[in-house]
Amino acid sequence: MKTNFPILFLALFLFQISCKEAPKEPLPPPNIIFIMTDDHANNAMSAYSTKLIETPNMDRIGKEGIKFTNSFVTNSICAPSRAVLLTGRYSHLNGLRDNRDHFDGNQMNFPKILQQTGYQTSVVGKWHLKTAPTGFDYWNVLIGQGPYYNPKMVENGDTIDHEGYTTDIITDLALNYLEKRDTTKPFCMLYHHKAPHRNWMPHPKYFDLYKDVELPLPETFYDDYSTRSKAASDQDQRIEHMYLSHDMKLLPEDWGGGKDPGTGGSGGSHDAGPGHVASMNRLTPEQRAAWDAHYDEVRKYFRESNLEGKELLEWKYQRYIKDYLRCVKSVDDNIGRVLDYLDENGLTENTLVVYTSDQGFYLGEHGWYDKRFMYEESLRMPLVMRYPTLTKPSQTVEKMVLNLDFAPTFLDLAGAAIPTDFQGQSLKPFLENETPDDWRSSFYYQYYEYPHGWHLVKKHYGVRTETHKLIHFYDDIDSWELFDLQADPNELNNVFGQENFAEIQSNLEKELAQLKKDLKVPEG
Ligand code: CA
Repeated sequence: MKTNFPILFLALFLFQISCKEAPKEPLPPPNIIFIMTDDHANNAMSAYSTKLIETPNMDRIGKEGIKFTNSFVTNSICAPSRAVLLTGRYSHLNGLRDNRDHFDGNQMNFPKILQQTGYQTSVVGKWHLKTAPTGFDYWNVLIGQGPYYNPKMVENGDTIDHEGYTTDIITDLALNYLEKRDTTKPFCMLYHHKAPHRNWMPHPKYFDLYKDVELPLPETFYDDYSTRSKAASDQDQRIEHMYLSHDMKLLPEDWGGGKDPGTGGSGGSHDAGPGHVASMNRLTPEQRAAWDAHYDEVRKYFRESNLEGKELLEWKYQRYIKDYLRCVKSVDDNIGRVLDYLDENGLTENTLVVYTSDQGFYLGEHGWYDKRFMYEESLRMPLVMRYPTLTKPSQTVEKMVLNLDFAPTFLDLAGAAIPTDFQGQSLKPFLENETPDDWRSSFYYQYYEYPHGWHLVKKHYGVRTETHKLIHFYDDIDSWELFDLQADPNELNNVFGQENFAEIQSNLEKELAQLKKDLKVPEG
């Protein structure tokens, strides 16, 4: 056999080049901007779905870096998600299981470790953990949920009144702080929006967005929950139950006075009408004039059309989804301001920018709003990351990642040791375009807020793999659900107990038991 020497030499030469290791010098610690919104569903971000909205600035982060297509929360509700983010540990270990709990700020969190390694740390915007932030050199946060207009904020302990639209104000404060930061240190900023949390009050400049447009109903809008447990049918988060005041922005005279006829997710115990009138009264005269110019038309339509049944329900959906999306649009604009700031100040290359939400949300799927369930719409959230020193443009990661992974990722990038009791995995390999062989193929979820609080979603825990999901609803119920996510992505067909799923069910039950053991989930 004749050997082709020139080709052989060329092949050997190329092989040598490809084997030559680039000298591995440790990278300087990156700046970190962790952008988190509240209740932003994947379906309301155009990187994931273009049916409802364009979000060019959020999308830009993913286009210039990585889009994660399977990012999940371990307990789908606001404050618990934030506690997991900070501590890198599940709710049953960080002690914050539902929105009523107070966060124990004495425990370890990742900002404290970053401080020790020389970072300047800050949090601006929504905090929602009841106790004062710990581990931050600078904090300037909303009180509780915070309003959409004219918020009071607490700056390192001092309460200050602000006038304007909260999404804009949080961004102004974040950029002001970046301007005056200590430039000799890397920074880590948590820049956290209140929007698009309920009750979805848009900026006046977006009142006309979607004005003459009918948005599509999701496929599962008229779900009848027929194969599922009573947990799915007995919740109180159906769009038909939304408040006419707080959610639809009507006034008592529009429905003829008296108690607001919606239950709003409170099981009917709470009349939101007076609270809504009070929130209108906090607007400045200019804001109120702009508000009335838009909503008077909505109110007039409602009074004159005498909507009932399906027509009323679909009108409520349109009202809800449009105000929600208008709020998202303001967030997207403000993220654009932050990205511009990084560009203009030469910070883009060495700054990790993360965009995510504290959990997902129902945009009419299953007839719902809100979150809490382990079903897909509230279990998953958007996640895009850009760090041009490591990431390449337009990477996509399909592996399952969790909000538990953020803390170890930031410490890993900063070159700090990751505490052994942190339960997530660093995402740094994905930033380097590598997929670890031992990446997770399943994860554990648990939700606790029942019967107290809002929406009456029963307590449950479960396991999700790349193809299936097993859920156990417990407490005042003992019901299991099993879904084949590939055949039934909308989770309409509970196959628990069916003979042809027996082996899968048995494997999931074993996996669930193992995860509970590994993660130190208390019995009972
Ligand atoms: Ca939330």
